[in-house]
Amino acid sequence: MRVNITLACTDCGERNYSTVKNKRNNPERLELKKYCSREKKMTTHRETK
Ligand SMILES: [Zn+2]
Repeated sequence: MRVNITLACTDCGERNYSTVKNKRNNPERLELKKYCSREKKMTTHRETK
């Protein structure tokens, strides 16, 4: 049930993080506040394929 995902900045689309999530615990798209290296600030990052 563990799948690899990529987290992309919702502001600029930069793919800053890759991680693993448990599909059973998080069936919907993950959204996390993370630091964007392109914009140099905290933004919302969302799971992409
Ligand atoms: Zn960004």
